[in-house]
Amino acid sequence: MIVVKLKPQINVKQISVLINRIEKSGYMPHLSKSDGRTQIGIIGDEQSILNLRLSRIKGVAEIIQTDKPFKLASREYKTSDTHIKVGEITVGGKKIVMMAGPCAVESYEQMLLIARAVKKAGADILRGGAFKPRTSPYSFQGLKQEGLKILAEVSKKTGLPVVTEVVTSANVGLVSRYADILQIGARNMQNYALLEEVGRTRKPVLLKRGMMSTLEELVMAAEYILSQGNSNVMLCERGIRTFEKYTRNTLDISAVPLLKHLSHLPVIVDPSHGTGVRSLVPATALASVAAGADGLIIEVHNNPEQALSDGFQNINIPEFNSLMKDLGPLAKAIKREM
Ligand code: PEP
Ligand code: MN
Repeated sequence: MIVVKLKPQINVKQISVLINRIEKSGYMPHLSKSDGRTQIGIIGDEQSILNLRLSRIKGVAEIIQTDKPFKLASREYKTSDTHIKVGEITVGGKKIVMMAGPCAVESYEQMLLIARAVKKAGADILRGGAFKPRTSPYSFQGLKQEGLKILAEVSKKTGLPVVTEVVTSANVGLVSRYADILQIGARNMQNYALLEEVGRTRKPVLLKRGMMSTLEELVMAAEYILSQGNSNVMLCERGIRTFEKYTRNTLDISAVPLLKHLSHLPVIVDPSHGTGVRSLVPATALASVAAGADGLIIEVHNNPEQALSDGFQNINIPEFNSLMKDLGPLAKAIKREM
């Protein structure tokens, strides 16, 4: 990758001359700000990019060559934390962003009830799967488009933006019409066609770590999305498969500071899938925030025993209320906000 650092006094016209030059040569310019300075990342054959002699264009301060595996997602490329706007909310800033809701959308009434309850408790974003990638083809597969419509209606009614999963490239357009954040599930973290398709939208993406993926593979998956021009990617730790059997997955808390070190992208933790055990969700949620997570995604159900999917790891509404109360003083202690 070549990074073109721009002079602070560069004007809009000079930037457009530069961008035109890059695009005409067949490259995609990735514009971003690092430490208050504007820069353009260009990926491709480095010698050919150097041959464009961009340093001769007015307003260019310097040209830097990096050969690190992580490019657009790396801290080297962008030292300051990425902030992602979702409606009124900023993910990756001082505030710990809380995403909460059931595993799957089951009905309008259920969704509205849970949305109102989690909003009252202080949640920022509503979660709920309409397309469910279930381990068994005989399990509830989600309400699909009907579920998306319910999410959009409940979002309108409560003002909560929604995050929901998209499982195939063919459905990216459809899900984008209803969702505020596109979720890429653990099982699809390395579905590169899907990653590129969400990369072609400008929707915020919640990219979940594959259950057998390394952190390097997770950041590389984020690169697929960023390389298509969508810079709104959040990384999500959701537990990995180990030999431990008391839990569904082993939540990798060390992933949080590690990802924050490797990348400027916001890091979200999912303690529900991360443990797969309802009683372990509050403690691991607190630990994730203490470790530096920018937000949490938690499965909450009004009646977990009756939930159509993942009931065993859904906490109920009083448990969510109590978790929210515990998070307040913790956030304050680490100079963050709830
Ligand atoms: C989910 O969030 O409901 C889900 C299926 O998560 P994961 O992809 O992490 O298993
Ligand atoms: Mn689930």
